[in-house]
Amino acid sequence: MLRALFSTMAKLNIKDVNLSGKRVLVRVDYNVPMEEVDGRMVINDTNATRIDTTLPTLDHLVSQGAKVILAAHLGRPKGKREPSMSLRPVAEKLAEKLVRPVAFVDDCLGEKVRQTAEALQPGDILLLENVRYHAEEEANDPEFAAKLAAPAEAYVNDAFGAAHRAHASTEGAAKAIAARGGICAGGLLMERELKFLGEELKQPERPFVVILGGAKVSDKIAVIDRLLEKADALLIGGAMAYTFKLAKGLGVGKSLIEPDKVDVARSAMAKAAARGIKLLLPSDNTVVTPVLTDKLDKKGNPIMEFQNPRHNTEPNIPDAEEGVDIGANTIAEYVTEISQAKTILWNGPMGIFEDERFAVGTFAIAKAVAEATENNGAKSIIGGGDSVKALNRSGLGDKVSFMSTGGGASLEFLEGKVLPGVAAINDK
Ligand code: AMP
Repeated sequence: MLRALFSTMAKLNIKDVNLSGKRVLVRVDYNVPMEEVDGRMVINDTNATRIDTTLPTLDHLVSQGAKVILAAHLGRPKGKREPSMSLRPVAEKLAEKLVRPVAFVDDCLGEKVRQTAEALQPGDILLLENVRYHAEEEANDPEFAAKLAAPAEAYVNDAFGAAHRAHASTEGAAKAIAARGGICAGGLLMERELKFLGEELKQPERPFVVILGGAKVSDKIAVIDRLLEKADALLIGGAMAYTFKLAKGLGVGKSLIEPDKVDVARSAMAKAAARGIKLLLPSDNTVVTPVLTDKLDKKGNPIMEFQNPRHNTEPNIPDAEEGVDIGANTIAEYVTEISQAKTILWNGPMGIFEDERFAVGTFAIAKAVAEATENNGAKSIIGGGDSVKALNRSGLGDKVSFMSTGGGASLEFLEGKVLPGVAAINDK
């Protein structure tokens, strides 16, 4: 189902309602990376962003005197009790952050949950075990959703990152509570996501510059198409650029491409030209010679080594080489566009930034976006996923207007799709 570009029906928020004394089921996104240390799963502070971003909502609910029951998923246990995917370490981390106790029950429904929920006092917080320990969660089984919702009188969704999934905890439980006349509201993080990815991009201040990168055109076709109705300039980087170059008949060597998406790239270029939108492709690149080694990675796949990195200023990439980053000339061209922008949306790195030799382009773009925000008052919105990682790694995370916590969810939202987890929130 599609709706008008970036339009957002105003959604009820916890700021609009009084949940004092009510048991509230709050869906949060606590899908945080964990590491095993001495047989225990622990969360590093650098990996606790998803916990941190829920604190304003929790503070608000606690100060209002709500009885908070948190539901979340971790990893993909596929309906089994996978001990490494327990949310118990999150309860400990959350208690540390909130400086108040957080109760934990080792299931998300059943008698123990009912008793603990009933004993909650205003301001108390209970975290339930991983909802994906039950296969019915992802199946959005209505009976399971009703059981999950049973202890609660109201529902709050603050898990934007999971809102593109119609699962029991993101949709079914909300419906069950709404059916009994209970309030279903968004949290403060949800509100910010809808504001920046929705409201702010409805009528962006111009010039509106969109930077798109990452691995695949196919992941972003729909976003490209929609943004071509709004943007003044589209700057393309990452592997995606090579499918565009292929569409222009240029040599791409061994670069990561999607030959079956050449038509899509061609029609995007035609649409941009017809609408007078600048669609820029890299004019130079860092290229490497990929060499297959006899070493294997953790999954048993042969490791590819990138040898002889060099600056390629030719339009074509030689057959034996692969493009892994944008080059200095492209950086300069893109930085000029970014420095004139009043609204910036960025999704996807400019190169294989995980390898610091090929992070130059991505970091330069991050710096330019931060500077445009600080010096020109541009509104800069980072559409989640790897661009957020790159910004944090470059130490500029707090220098942009907004970084989305959703990867897939933010892309689907920008495509104009209705996210089931957002739709389930009451309209204002
Ligand atoms: P995405 O999730 O689509 O934003 O893609 C992010 C991934 O794209 C990162 O893991 C990057 O390493 C990868 N990537 C970016 N540029 C390139 C490139 N030139 N060749 C291969 N992979 C790339």
